[in-house]
Amino acid sequence: MSAIEDLLALHLVDKQARGLRSRVENAQTYLNAQQSQLDELNASIDELAQRSKLTQATVANLETEAGSIDERTNKLRDDLKNSSTTKQYNVILEEINNLKEAKGQVDDRALAELEGLDTISAETEALTAKATERTTVRDSATIELKERTDEVAEQLALLEAERAEKASVVPAAALEIFDQAADDFEGDSMAPLEEIDRRRLEYGCSCCNVSLPFNLVNTIMADDNIVQQCKGCLRILYATEELRGALVKK
Ligand SMILES: [Zn+2]
Repeated sequence: MSAIEDLLALHLVDKQARGLRSRVENAQTYLNAQQSQLDELNASIDELAQRSKLTQATVANLETEAGSIDERTNKLRDDLKNSSTTKQYNVILEEINNLKEAKGQVDDRALAELEGLDTISAETEALTAKATERTTVRDSATIELKERTDEVAEQLALLEAERAEKASVVPAAALEIFDQAADDFEGDSMAPLEEIDRRRLEYGCSCCNVSLPFNLVNTIMADDNIVQQCKGCLRILYATEELRGALVKK
């Protein structure tokens, strides 16, 4: 077999193996996306739980504060009953009024905090529902990945062995070019020459459409042991049987 025939045989197997691997990779990418969305949801739920805890502590403090204001007010009411002078009465009354105002403020703050707590709990409920839904999707993505991995494992092992065998007959320098192009173009490492205008000797790369000098085309046509890269896309150029046949007829 010629160098180009060896490369084309390698290309065939390489592309099949890549196709199988990409089915598994796609399933992995999908699973990763689901997992990261779930992680984000859970992080938001944790943050809400933190906020809820802090708010509850604030509410508890405000309730204690309100309780001690009430206690003080009740004590002052007793003092008011027992007050002996008008001056004393007025001083106590003023303090009671001040405490009433302070109590009102504390109650308002507690109410606002409790409303905040309601919002937090509604948000938590909504996010938890989303997280439950996302967990279901994540779990089926996990199963899908495992199924796909198992499905292709055997075939992939065979193809990889075959690929290694085909690659073993390709010289190292050509293999390096081949692998690079295959990585760059999802396995499309080989570019057939394309005839643009035979009379004008115009040929190009059928993959990237760059036009190629005729002496390069001629070299490739004449000897398919020669490995040449396209100047445009760096794939390995080759002449199809069809093109060779057409040229011979001429
Ligand atoms: Zn090209």
